[in-house]
Amino acid sequence: MQELANTQPAPHNYEEQHLMSKMTVAGVQIDTRHFIGGQRVASTETFPDHSPVDGSLLGHISSGGDAEVDAAVTAARAAFPAWSATPPAQRAAILHRIADLVEERLEDLAIVETMDNGALLRSHRRGVMPRVAHNFRFFADYLINDLHHEPFETRGHTNVVSWDPSGVCALITPWNAPLMLATWKIAPALASGDTVILKPAEWTPLTASLLCDIVAEAGLPDGVFNVVQGYGENAGAALVAHPGISRISFTGSVPTAVLVAKAAAANLTPCSFELGGKSPTIIFDDADIDLAVELAAEQYDNAGQVCLAGTRLLVQEGVAEEFLQKFEARVSRIKQGDPRDEATDMGPNIHPEHVARVDGFVQRARAAGGTIVFGGHRVSDDNLFYEPTLIMPATAGDEIVCEEVFGPVLTMQTFATDDDAIAMANGTRFGLAACIAVGDRNRAERITSQLVAGTIWVNCFFVRDLRAPFGGSRKSGVGREGGTWSFDFYSDVKNTVFSPNGWKEGA
Ligand code: NAD
Repeated sequence: MQELANTQPAPHNYEEQHLMSKMTVAGVQIDTRHFIGGQRVASTETFPDHSPVDGSLLGHISSGGDAEVDAAVTAARAAFPAWSATPPAQRAAILHRIADLVEERLEDLAIVETMDNGALLRSHRRGVMPRVAHNFRFFADYLINDLHHEPFETRGHTNVVSWDPSGVCALITPWNAPLMLATWKIAPALASGDTVILKPAEWTPLTASLLCDIVAEAGLPDGVFNVVQGYGENAGAALVAHPGISRISFTGSVPTAVLVAKAAAANLTPCSFELGGKSPTIIFDDADIDLAVELAAEQYDNAGQVCLAGTRLLVQEGVAEEFLQKFEARVSRIKQGDPRDEATDMGPNIHPEHVARVDGFVQRARAAGGTIVFGGHRVSDDNLFYEPTLIMPATAGDEIVCEEVFGPVLTMQTFATDDDAIAMANGTRFGLAACIAVGDRNRAERITSQLVAGTIWVNCFFVRDLRAPFGGSRKSGVGREGGTWSFDFYSDVKNTVFSPNGWKEGA
């Protein structure tokens, strides 16, 4: 902590210091400082955090840079020898304790996340925060019960594979599902025996701060989990360039991943990248059209701010008219409103800059000759809602077909044959996911075998199992996480070869 002494503000009085380090959101008290070596640490600089729900200023958060990152790396490295030597069963027990406390504080986490990123409170309550707890339980149990490779023989020698802790992991996360995506990395890293520094997205810093309270209460030793808040170009850049880091797991956009990869290259730090997409939702003429309509409508979930969303609707010619008619009727029933209201289906987008970006894509598609089938506008200049939008692009090469919008904006194109559908689906630089609606199983297998994607859903969407590999092909990512793949990334995987020779009698 010594290095940080100079970056501490000199508050005029106690009250001011108190105001700078605490905020209350929906009755939940949140510490706005970093969490380094088990201590709350402030920076001189802060950044403001506004709610997308009503535009209100939630508070000011400590904004870290080189000094805070260096202190966090020092703390995480100091904690590494003891944590990495902690028996797996003991590590797993602490992860389960964290999960218990996440469940106990589920309401606090859910409402704070909703106020911070605008996603539905009902989803946070029933889907996201239970998944946060599950992330910890799953990797704790996997470490104890499943992480195993059968020993194998080479000319009488026995190969034994093990997963050794690797060191300090830098975890960098986006704003669209902040705590779920963070804990999907934190849990396997901690289970592996690594120590962690998390840099949350600057638009959604709050639930990471609550997680610090939870891990401390769960008895995770000081320095094993650290949070440095701040802007990507300051805190994030300092973290990924630090030579004391053993792994970087990054979820975010392709341009930022390129910067991270360049910084990591200087130290040859291994990276896992989970990036953007422009995934297809393909509807074949033998599909259950009502099911296909539901699947297509799900692509607007979280106001379209979902990396996996199948935002390119590809519909076979014979069913295009029926599909479109039913889809338009279905989307007209999507209720936009306050994300805290149980009846709301779609909340606001995250930030004024982001809404302007989404609208920019739509207006350029319109100017390029695209047909706006429905939507196409901000709901009001006074809020961050954007209408669910469907665009028939003028050409397949239009920006709106090629670039990730990350808002409630889908395109629709038609195709004649299965081969056309496969060519259109794969005609992108991304390869994160695909969703297909199809009636015939053989046809489904033929098509899925030819699609380029990390995850394919057939007649379903967003069914996730943490044992499955998760990641993207092409520009949608590098590497896979999930199950053993997570341990492979966060660990130093080791092979030890035991000879049949050289053993002392009786040993
Ligand atoms: P982003 O790339 O702008 O930011 C992601 C994180 O990187 C933030 O914490 C940011 O502060 C940090 N960052 C920014 N500059 C940095 C730098 N120079 N060095 C280190 N860190 C830096 O992405 P975003 O706008 O927060 O998130 C949206 C993107 O994330 C979309 O492209 C979306 O598809 C993608 N995403 C992917 C997945 C997946 O699992 N594949 C999941 C969710 C989101």
